[in-house]
Amino acid sequence: MDEANAVRDRDHKFLTQAVEEAYKGVESGDGGPFGAVVVCNDEVVVSCHNMVHKHTDPTAHAEVTAVREACKKLNRIELADCEIYASCEPCPMCFGAIHLSRIKRLVYGAKAEAAIAIGFDDFIADALRGTGFYQKAQLEIKQADGKGALIAEQVVWVQTNENAEKQQYSIEIREINN
Ligand SMILES: [Zn+2]
Repeated sequence: MDEANAVRDRDHKFLTQAVEEAYKGVESGDGGPFGAVVVCNDEVVVSCHNMVHKHTDPTAHAEVTAVREACKKLNRIELADCEIYASCEPCPMCFGAIHLSRIKRLVYGAKAEAAIAIGFDDFIADALRGTGFYQKAQLEIKQADGKGALIAEQVVWVQTNENAEKQQYSIEIREINN
């Protein structure tokens, strides 16, 4: 196996875990369909999902939660030797947190557009997002290859279907009341 393939397989493994975390978040009702995993020396330090509902905290995104928990666990405020795997392209707040923690590498699955498509508006500051601005920072940003991106986008659609079912349900109730 050549080096590029090895990197891709490794990225796929950790990204899959971030996506599994996103599913856990949906199932538990803790928050939106987003997961993040912090990795240090090939070991998972923490695996977190969005906790916005659970903590009644609009800033408890998966990536921010993962940065906080990883720092606590490693008992330091710099994660320069760590990587973060996010199920979805991070919002500007999370990019900020990743930058402040000095994490060296970010791999994400779904593009932000997938989350925007189902009504998450945390990504509105498009001009701030990713690419130009953050490439000035010492951070390598990479979107997973086709297959990784696909499994990551599916988790977003799971939530959409659940919302659609709920909406249908509430419409039915209203009809009964009428
Ligand atoms: Zn975020």
